[in-house]
Amino acid sequence: MREVDVAIVGGGIAGIVAATKLIESGKEVLVLDKSKSVGGRLATRRINGGKADHGAQFFTVRTEQFQQLVDRWEQNGWVSKWFGENHARYKSTDGMNQLVKHLASEVPVQLSFKVDRIERDGNSYVLVPEEGDDVKAHTVLLTPPAPQSLQLLQASDSQLSNYAHHSLNRIVFDPALVGLVSLKEGASTKLPNSGHQDSDLPEGIERIVDSSSKGISTERIISIYATSELSKFLYSEEDELILRELISRVSHIIHSEHVSSSQLKRWRYAQAEQVHSSPTLWVSEHESIVVAGDAFLRSDDQSGRTRIESAVLSGLTAANEINDGMERKASL
Ligand SMILES: Cc1cc2nc3c(=O)[nH]c(=O)nc-3n(C[C@H](O)[C@H](O)[C@H](O)COP(=O)(O)OP(=O)(O)OC[C@H]3O[C@@H](n4cnc5c(N)ncnc54)[C@H](O)[C@@H]3O)c2cc1C
Repeated sequence: MREVDVAIVGGGIAGIVAATKLIESGKEVLVLDKSKSVGGRLATRRINGGKADHGAQFFTVRTEQFQQLVDRWEQNGWVSKWFGENHARYKSTDGMNQLVKHLASEVPVQLSFKVDRIERDGNSYVLVPEEGDDVKAHTVLLTPPAPQSLQLLQASDSQLSNYAHHSLNRIVFDPALVGLVSLKEGASTKLPNSGHQDSDLPEGIERIVDSSSKGISTERIISIYATSELSKFLYSEEDELILRELISRVSHIIHSEHVSSSQLKRWRYAQAEQVHSSPTLWVSEHESIVVAGDAFLRSDDQSGRTRIESAVLSGLTAANEINDGMERKASL
């Protein structure tokens, strides 16, 4: 069985920045993700030789700490300012997923590893996957969307304090439906030059993005985001019906006769409507398991919203707290 200092469940941006920080301070780390790629909700899909982002489209920066990281990413050519004069929206230059792939290039990651439960083994933990070999760790960091972390903890034999249980239970995520629509060659749209529109849209539509104008695709693929209300309303319907509904609602921007193909992405947990007002949550004073991710906001976070910045800051704080805890134990 592989044994590490810290096992991190989730290879989204929170898990990957936490792993990087822990590796820098000499910890042996392994990131476990159920998907075939790192990135989580920074997601990019390849379609007919083109590609389109279908999770987060951009990020904003509100803190000096995040700005310093973003400046480094910009110098590396991984991100660039996309639009927004006073309040820049940054995009990843090759699709949002690629940013996390760059960040994860030096991080040990095991993909297609869905953690089914966590068992206690003396002072360590055994992470049991749906398939494959167990992994043993002294400390566990959970970064899936908070409701999924709660489900995992409830399936495990770790002690969850009343406070942690109550706090995790309060975090509610909305779903999101995103239609990915490929246009025929030469077809145009009535979108701004940036390719991004999130105002003056029909009811039920939150945002429309043209991946070709965004500069990440040679093929013109349009991502149509339903609002959380419409996503909840349509979530259990068939793909075909949802796509027809999304395309018909934006027919003044995209002509349906210009559509060559379409596919749907469903996010059961997209963005939290209720967040936790601390960047981490330890499951109890008796356990070395900490929960983090985008729904864990710093108490001074003015936006109150789950976003890429909140995920990064939460991941970094979790790494610092794990380091401090391990150093304290080592000095006893
Ligand atoms: C449609 C949509 C639009 C968005 N738009 C924006 C935007 O414009 N700007 C912005 O800043 N933010 C946006 N966001 C939010 C942003 O994407 C997230 O805040 C951020 O990516 C969260 O990162 P994370 O690492 O906390 O979680 P995630 O990216 O969700 O990573 C969690 C990882 O855990 C893995 N996992 C879950 N359960 C298990 C398990 N049992 N075992 C192993 N692995 C597991 C998952 O596969 C996933 O990779 C959007 C999100 C969505 C879905």
